[in-house]
Amino acid sequence: MIIAVDGPTASGKGTIAAALAEHFGLPFLDTGLLYRAVGRQVFLDGGDPDDAGDALAATSFPDALLSDPHLRSEDTGGLASRVSVHTSVRKALFERQRAFATRPGGAVLDGRDIGTVIAPDADVKLFVTASAHARAERRWKEMRGRGLAVALEDIEADILRRDERDSNRADAPLKPADDAIILDTTDMTREQALAAAIVAVEAKR
Ligand code: C5P
Repeated sequence: MIIAVDGPTASGKGTIAAALAEHFGLPFLDTGLLYRAVGRQVFLDGGDPDDAGDALAATSFPDALLSDPHLRSEDTGGLASRVSVHTSVRKALFERQRAFATRPGGAVLDGRDIGTVIAPDADVKLFVTASAHARAERRWKEMRGRGLAVALEDIEADILRRDERDSNRADAPLKPADDAIILDTTDMTREQALAAAIVAVEAKR
């Protein structure tokens, strides 16, 4: 069974996808991490994330980079969003994601274009979303919990900027697949969102 989980930044899709993988005993790939690694590698190379050539060169990042804690930072998220605009970068990362999706026994992948591009044949497609304000508040609380002093307005502005870039790029824009189940978690707790996701998967199985 292939489960595709897409959605905007800070929607909670990563948490839901990881929990679904555990619940159904499937391997899990956070595809955002691949784009984050490319963004981070461009930075380490002193390159320009908006330059297609620099970004493509960074797709041959070493595997060890995937466990670099810097990948989780907001700055790297911004770089990831910029390198992910380039078609050449998306093509370079395609095979790795497709191979994971088509593993015998199935897989869970989360990202922006899993249900539309990487695994249009997925058995279940979830599009996890929430209002920009709710997403900013969650991210802000999580960052405060980690002792980071950040302004809620700055986080919300950054989220809106990323939504705009991810949704309006020409190649593989962020949008629900026609057959995706939309899960709006604005007024849900984490537990409610996960329960709803499990019900949605069970219904499709
Ligand atoms: O999900 P995450 O915030 O880690 O993703 C970082 C960035 O990588 C996103 O803002 C998006 O631009 C890009 N991305 C993408 N396609 C994916 C996963 C992530 O374009 N499948």
